[in-house]
Amino acid sequence: MILYNKDVNPQGIRPELLLAIICANAYPADVGVSCIINGEHMLGSLHLSGNAIDFDVLEHSDLELNRGLTDNASLAKWLSAALPSCYDVVHEVSHVHVEYQPK
Ligand SMILES: [Zn+2]
Repeated sequence: MILYNKDVNPQGIRPELLLAIICANAYPADVGVSCIINGEHMLGSLHLSGNAIDFDVLEHSDLELNRGLTDNASLAKWLSAALPSCYDVVHEVSHVHVEYQPK
């Protein structure tokens, strides 16, 4: 299940990011969206143009713990495997950053 931070507003999101949300929703643990365009970003960040989204794994069940699918590193691997190469998936310290950036 995807849960959205109260500050998240989807206005201006690039439609291609919906594929990332669909893939994150299939992850076997609750996943939060902490940021799309909201928040503070560096100049040139793809968040500013609605081309990036940040995910964070939330609650974990015992089943998920046993499967080793509970942290953001696992979510990053999951999304990397599920998304085409025009998406960059980066495991940051506190979240998983996904951006749509066609080469
Ligand atoms: Zn980000």
